[in-house]
Amino acid sequence: MRIDLHTHSSVSDGTETPAELLATARAAGLDVVALTDHDTTAGWSLAEASRPAGLTVVPGMELSCRWFPSDQPPISVHLLAYLFDPTHAGFAAERGRLRQERLERGARIVGALAADGYPVVWEQIVERSAGGVVGRPHVARALVEAGAVESVDEAFVTLLHHHSPYYVAKVDTDVREGIALVRAAGGVPVFAHGLATKRGRVVGDDAIAGMAEAGLLGLEVDHPDHAPHERAHLRGLAEDLGLIVTGSSDYHGRNKQTPIGACTTDADQFEALLAAGIGSEAYRD
Ligand code: AMP
Ligand code: FE
Ligand code: FE
Ligand code: ZN
Repeated sequence: MRIDLHTHSSVSDGTETPAELLATARAAGLDVVALTDHDTTAGWSLAEASRPAGLTVVPGMELSCRWFPSDQPPISVHLLAYLFDPTHAGFAAERGRLRQERLERGARIVGALAADGYPVVWEQIVERSAGGVVGRPHVARALVEAGAVESVDEAFVTLLHHHSPYYVAKVDTDVREGIALVRAAGGVPVFAHGLATKRGRVVGDDAIAGMAEAGLLGLEVDHPDHAPHERAHLRGLAEDLGLIVTGSSDYHGRNKQTPIGACTTDADQFEALLAAGIGSEAYRD
C-alpha cells in the first residue's frame, strides 16, 4: 500500500485540477491519496466525481493556524484535517473567514509589489486562482509569467519570504481552536510539517503537547521539509503522546519540485486515521 496524505490541487495553490491530481496519483502507483487544499473543501466533490477506479481518496484540508507562545510572537502552523463534516457550521464559517483574510492580505502584498514597479495585477491573480483561495504561490507564478523572476522558488527567496518588506501575515486560526473545530466536525486533526525550520520559526515540544491536550490526533512526521533528526524527534513525540504518525509529499504540482508520493504513510497508521474520522467517508471502490 502506498499512501500519500497531503496534496494540493488548483482549488488552492497546486497547479493540477483535482481530476488531474488523482490521475497523477494513480500513475505514480499510489493506492491512497488525500486531497488537502488550503482552507477549502471546494475540491471534494470534483475529486469524488473524477476518482479513478482502485484509488482511495481521503477528503481533507490544510487549515492555516497560529500557535501563541507565552514569550514570543505567534508562530505560523498548519493543521491537516481529514474526514470531517464539511457542513459543520462553525468550521465552515472559520474557513470562510480565512479565505476572506487571504483575499485582503493578497491584495496588500500585490499592491505593494505593483507600487514598486513589479508587473503584477491583483485582479488577474484572483481571476486565475481557480478556487478563489489565493496564496503567495499565485503571486509567485504571476511574477514568473511576467518575467520578473525565473521560478516560483526564486520569487519566494527574493520577494515573498516572511521577512520580506512585501510580506503581510494573515490572521490565522488559533491552532487550539482549529483542533477543536476539526474534532467538533468529526474530523482527524494532524499537525503538518511541524519541524520544517526552512519555513520559519517552529514550535517547541511544549506546544505539541499542548495541541495533543487540545485534541490533536496525529503528527506528520515524514515530510520533504523535515531532516532525518527532525523526523526522529517527531516520531518519539508521537509515541510519547499516543499520536498517529503520517507521511506525505505535500505535492503542489508545478509550484514545488516534490513529486507526489515522495513520502508515505504506513498502512496501520492510515487505518487508525480512517477509524478516527467520523464526519465523512473516504471515496473508494
Ligand atoms: P500562504 O498560504 O499564502 O502564506 O503561502 C504559503 C504557501 O506557499 C505554502 O503552502 C507553500 O505552498 C508555498 N511556499 C512556501 N514557501 C515556498 C517556497 N520557498 N517555494 C515554493 N513555495 C513555497
Ligand atoms: Fe501550499
Ligand atoms: Fe503546509
Ligand atoms: Zn500543504
